[in-house]
Amino acid sequence: MAGTITFTMIKPDAFSDGNSGSIIKMIEEAGFQLKAMKLTRLSDRKASQFYAVHKERPFFNDLVKYMSSGPIVAIVLEKDNAVEDFRKLIGATNPAEAAEGTIRKLFAKSIEANAIHGSDSDENAKIESSFFFSNLEIFHID
Ligand code: GDP
Repeated sequence: MAGTITFTMIKPDAFSDGNSGSIIKMIEEAGFQLKAMKLTRLSDRKASQFYAVHKERPFFNDLVKYMSSGPIVAIVLEKDNAVEDFRKLIGATNPAEAAEGTIRKLFAKSIEANAIHGSDSDENAKIESSFFFSNLEIFHID
C-alpha cells in the first residue's frame, strides 16, 4: 500500500519571489495536510548531503550552489498516496515539460530553479523528512 507521507521544499527561487504562500495554498487545496514546517537555509555541506544521490551528475555543483543560495521552506505533508499525488501536483522537473496548472508550470524559472522539491519514493520521504525534523514522532509520523 502506498504511504501517506511526503516531503517538500519550497526552493530559494520561489521563496525569494514571494511565492511560498501561493504554493502552500495550492498544496492545501490539493488535500495535503501540513504535518511539520520550517523556514531554514541549507549550508553548502547540507545541500551536498541532501542531493548526494546526484553527486556524479554534471549539474551537481550548480545545484548545491543554488539550493544554498537563500532560504527554503521545508515541509512534511500527509495525504493518501502522498508521494505520487504530490509529484503530479508539482509537475515535471523541467518546467517547459510540466503540465498546465502544476506548481512548476506556474512558478518555476528553469530546470534548476524549479520552485519546489517532492520526494520520489516512500522511503526517501522518510529519509528527507528526518533530514530536517528530528522530532517527527510528536506529529505521529514514524
Ligand atoms: P526532481 O525529482 O523532479 O526534483 O528531479 P531530479 O531528482 O532529477 O533532480 C533534482 C534537482 O536537480 C531538480 O529538481 C533540479 O533543481 C536540479 N536539476 C535536475 N536536472 C537538472 C539539469 O539538467 N540541470 C540543472 N542545472 N539542474 C538540474
